[in-house]
Amino acid sequence: MNFLQQIMAKIQQFMIGRYGSDSFTLFLTISGLVCSILSNFRHLRFLYLISLILIFYGVFRTFSRNYEARRKELNWYLRVSQKPKAEIKILMSQIRDRKTHRYYKCKSCKTVMRVPKGRGKIEITCPKCRMKVIKKT
Ligand SMILES: [Zn+2]
Repeated sequence: MNFLQQIMAKIQQFMIGRYGSDSFTLFLTISGLVCSILSNFRHLRFLYLISLILIFYGVFRTFSRNYEARRKELNWYLRVSQKPKAEIKILMSQIRDRKTHRYYKCKSCKTVMRVPKGRGKIEITCPKCRMKVIKKT
């Protein structure tokens, strides 16, 4: 076994029984790095402390042996981040399709509808609740 393999074996042994990384840890680490970068601006110095807290919490989660607590945190994160992720996805689609399509939100059920641009006045039916609206595209 060469030196690098010995180090890898030691790390593997150290990580046995530990939680490891998940999407919440990744989010904490990336947020911590973003806060760290932003803390270079004079008025955002306080973000440095927040970045340290976020990164250390990510490290703590990775090495933790309490699977149950980490799993609960992950479930909470997945539940809380679901809506913002969906809204970011819609926003990215709106930016991508801005020349060919328009997006409307249904007033009764909040479903986002995509319609082709440049068709004049059209009646749009919500696929979810069947509510109709007339919009200029
Ligand atoms: Zn609707």
